Amino acid sequence: MTFDEYQKQALTTAYTDPNYKDTMMDKTIWAMGIVGEAGEVIEKWKKMVAYNKGELTDEFVQDIKKELGDVVWYIAVLANSLGLSFEEIMQLNVKKLQDRKKRNVIKGKGDNR
Ligand SMILES: [Mg+2]
Repeated sequence: MTFDEYQKQALTTAYTDPNYKDTMMDKTIWAMGIVGEAGEVIEKWKKMVAYNKGELTDEFVQDIKKELGDVVWYIAVLANSLGLSFEEIMQLNVKKLQDRKKRNVIKGKGDNR
């Protein structure tokens, strides 16, 4: 499955309140969903460390896999609402990071280095 194929599939399950369709509210909900799902990842991680001695059990990894998928789903849907394909986002990200590595600034600070 390519990133764009995933994005298409994700969109088939994207629900939006008809009153919010194609509005800033829609985009805001998708953006907040990314952080909400990332919060679910870190909450499960916290509990694994706090209450399960930091043990990466198969059950834990399966739970995290689902939450990581939820994060990706929101990214795909938000990107679509901005007219961006998932593929182009991934390509841009890889290009940016490879460029930083080539210029030996991969460990530096700042978004535009
Ligand atoms: Mg979730």
